[in-house]
Amino acid sequence: MKIRNGLAATALVVTLGAGGPAAAQFPPPEMAIHEVRDGIYQILSAASGGITVLTSDDGVLLVDSKLPNEFDGFMELLRTVTNQPIRYVINTHMHGDHTGGNIGLEGLGANIVATENARRRMAATPSMGLPMLTFDNRLRLYFGGRPLDLYWLGRGHTDGDLVVHMPEDDLIMAGDLFAGFDTSLRLTDYNGGGSLMEWSATLEKVLELDFDTVIPGHQAVTDRAALQGYLDEIVQIQDMIREMHAAGRAPDDIQAALAMAFGQFAVFILPGVQSVIDELE
Ligand SMILES: [Zn+2]
Repeated sequence: MKIRNGLAATALVVTLGAGGPAAAQFPPPEMAIHEVRDGIYQILSAASGGITVLTSDDGVLLVDSKLPNEFDGFMELLRTVTNQPIRYVINTHMHGDHTGGNIGLEGLGANIVATENARRRMAATPSMGLPMLTFDNRLRLYFGGRPLDLYWLGRGHTDGDLVVHMPEDDLIMAGDLFAGFDTSLRLTDYNGGGSLMEWSATLEKVLELDFDTVIPGHQAVTDRAALQGYLDEIVQIQDMIREMHAAGRAPDDIQAALAMAFGQFAVFILPGVQSVIDELE
């Protein structure tokens, strides 16, 4: 969930995480790797989005690539579980805390995959390490004998978020369409084509996929019920903004009320609530 240099959102996450009800699930400040299930690992740190690692006899596939300054650290952790070459890197979206390792990984021969929308936005930023393989709605990749379905299901966090579905594993990787439930921090990046009002419909489509387990964009593994709860809260936020706007309340007023109702940093809208109001009108 990176905004420009990523520090703002990260600092918010850390602040919220420290006292959160589920601190145990919160990413550690120091980067660490843990096994999600056989052959699937997650590399987490508080500084950036998580990396999901798929290992196989054919090589390694990564979902997301953290910040540039974390490259050496995550490669070191990765090499404790596999020495296979990295074949693919899937970017769930274009934010710099999910794409920062692209250049280094490209140098190791990895193929980078993202939505066309994400690539177009990445191309506007110099030296991002651009995807060479893109799609509009769906791409199936066979990796290590397993199918991986990559879907673009609509706008939300940005306009280029993909979800990775592993149908034979009942698993999805949600990227920042569901960064994590416990911190409740959700960023709608209108500058990146995001939409708070369309986010709920996008998540409804995600929930139509067949899965039990969810790997969020920034947190440890959780389940379908947590994703449903996250969607429910987005709908509540939409309703509250719609009702307050209809009642003639000013944007600052609405933002303050959202902070009161959902937590100080729970509803983070770039550049501001006015973008949501513009969608309503
Ligand atoms: Zn993001």
